[in-house]
Amino acid sequence: MPFQQTPPQLGNQYEDDRVLRSYLARVLPADMLSEIEVSLAEMGRLAGGELYQLQLADRLNEPRMTQWDAWGNRIDKIELTPLWRVAEGIAVEHGVVATAYEQKHGSLSRVHQCALAYLFTPSTDIYSCPLAMTDGAARTLLGSGNQALIDRAVPHLITRVAGQFWTAGQWMTELTGGSDVGLTETVARQDPESGAYRLYGRKWFTSAISSQMALTLARPEGNPPGGRGLALFYVETRDPTGRPRNVEVNRLKDKLGTRKVPTAELTLNGTPAQLVKGTTDGIRNIAPLLNITRLWNGISAVALMRRGVALASDYSRKRIAFGVALSEKPLHMDTLAGLEAEAEAAFHLAFYVAELTGRSETGEISDDDAALLRLLTPIMKLTTAKQAVAVASEVLECFGGAGYVEDTGLPMLLRDSQVLPIWEGTTNVLAVDTLRALNEDSLRVFQSAVTKLAGNFPPALDHATSWYTRISDRSVLEAGARRFALTLGRTIELALLLNHARSSGDQQSMVNARRFAALGVDLIIDDYPQQ
Ligand SMILES: Cc1cc2nc3c(=O)[nH]c(=O)nc-3n(C[C@H](O)[C@H](O)[C@H](O)COP(=O)(O)OP(=O)(O)OC[C@H]3O[C@@H](n4cnc5c(N)ncnc54)[C@H](O)[C@@H]3O)c2cc1C
Repeated sequence: MPFQQTPPQLGNQYEDDRVLRSYLARVLPADMLSEIEVSLAEMGRLAGGELYQLQLADRLNEPRMTQWDAWGNRIDKIELTPLWRVAEGIAVEHGVVATAYEQKHGSLSRVHQCALAYLFTPSTDIYSCPLAMTDGAARTLLGSGNQALIDRAVPHLITRVAGQFWTAGQWMTELTGGSDVGLTETVARQDPESGAYRLYGRKWFTSAISSQMALTLARPEGNPPGGRGLALFYVETRDPTGRPRNVEVNRLKDKLGTRKVPTAELTLNGTPAQLVKGTTDGIRNIAPLLNITRLWNGISAVALMRRGVALASDYSRKRIAFGVALSEKPLHMDTLAGLEAEAEAAFHLAFYVAELTGRSETGEISDDDAALLRLLTPIMKLTTAKQAVAVASEVLECFGGAGYVEDTGLPMLLRDSQVLPIWEGTTNVLAVDTLRALNEDSLRVFQSAVTKLAGNFPPALDHATSWYTRISDRSVLEAGARRFALTLGRTIELALLLNHARSSGDQQSMVNARRFAALGVDLIIDDYPQQ
């Protein structure tokens, strides 16, 4: 018999996930865990079973746009792929957004929802993108005090009824920049008689353009330049017949990854829009959306890492080299152990932010924890995103040449991970945001949280703190901001991992904590050569 390689396989992605199960057993009350475990096991079954098979079968399908109908009408119709249509049905039925709003388990509902999203995401080719924005839009509208918009849109965003579900887009980035959105050129013109607004401008990256609604930024005519002069607007993208409401989809972007996500370039040509909250401060008013999408980014990062590690671990038992399975080769297992440690460390940080987010949503958060959440959201997003790219790259190598071949489905893991450090704020932009969020109070809170979790004041934190307090030159501080933010991120990841290992008694977590510490936490460079 000629040699035939057995491919990697996935089992139930909940039942096989030691990290998720041991984390949930630690943080959730036993009765809550036994109540929600059915939903998690079902999502784990789908994600490792039929959804995964559909994902592999759907690999070459991409969203399609038809710009004109047979009679010359501009329709800009977007057709999603079969995988995404199925994924939407599963997300709605299983409450991948709704769970956070039904609040069956108070603030821990957010943890439940994130666990569902974590299981669901890697088998859906980033259907997490529209769900993240939908979740963020629901949170933003609920906090806006705009009752008319809350009544109109939120029930659709958080429904479990398939035909009623809407997804939301987030149209911020323009040609002038996605980081410096204060440069936004889109103008909002108010009809002097009706008071209604229409938007005119171009949006340069708008993901999930299939969404029924979007939150966007525009400058009401007469407002000053810069971020303060922008207002937050609500847009319904299509009329009841499905025609775009003065929104032209110029084209779908041809991207490295996230290829199932229809990301469009738009022209807003008199698009009807409603103010969400006041005529200024749009950037501040859209912040709740970004906090949620950044949380989703972290959950997606750990989910993709987990998928890569699961496939690579399974393959190591099936691939023979030099007479034994790769799982018998110390160096291959050392490589996998490093990936597992990175993935578990990232997991605990992403879910810690989920816990804090849940408490902030139910109002059960102390001032100290609110300051911690403000600081940790950018730190978590940037740290986990970078880990996801590094882990995905190494996962591909664990498969040798097969990792580089498209129909294994593996290269997509790397391409899709690569978007995580770019959207929702790049690494550098979030590192600068970390500096913005840092003050005497938040630094004290961070230090005391880490000390409590780790059981000591870690040397890396001491080094980062002394660097931060010593540097008075703003340009030197900014130049080192990424290394500083990553050091804080890795420091709290290690502290969370140690805390989990000690409180849960999970021996593997302790092994991973030691490995993670050895891989390096402190990235501060004291005397970086100035140019
Ligand atoms: C697949 C995909 C989907 C997207 N979907 C959406 C969407 O739905 N809605 C939306 O609004 N946007 C979306 N984006 C856009 C995304 O948010 C932006 O690309 C991102 O914010 C960066 O903006 P930019 O591309 O204009 O880059 P720039 O802002 O030009 O940044 C270029 C470089 O400069 C660096 N930089 C910028 N400012 C600083 C600073 N102060 N200090 C140090 N370095 C800095 C950045 O880190 C980056 O490396 C999407 C992007 C992608 C790739």
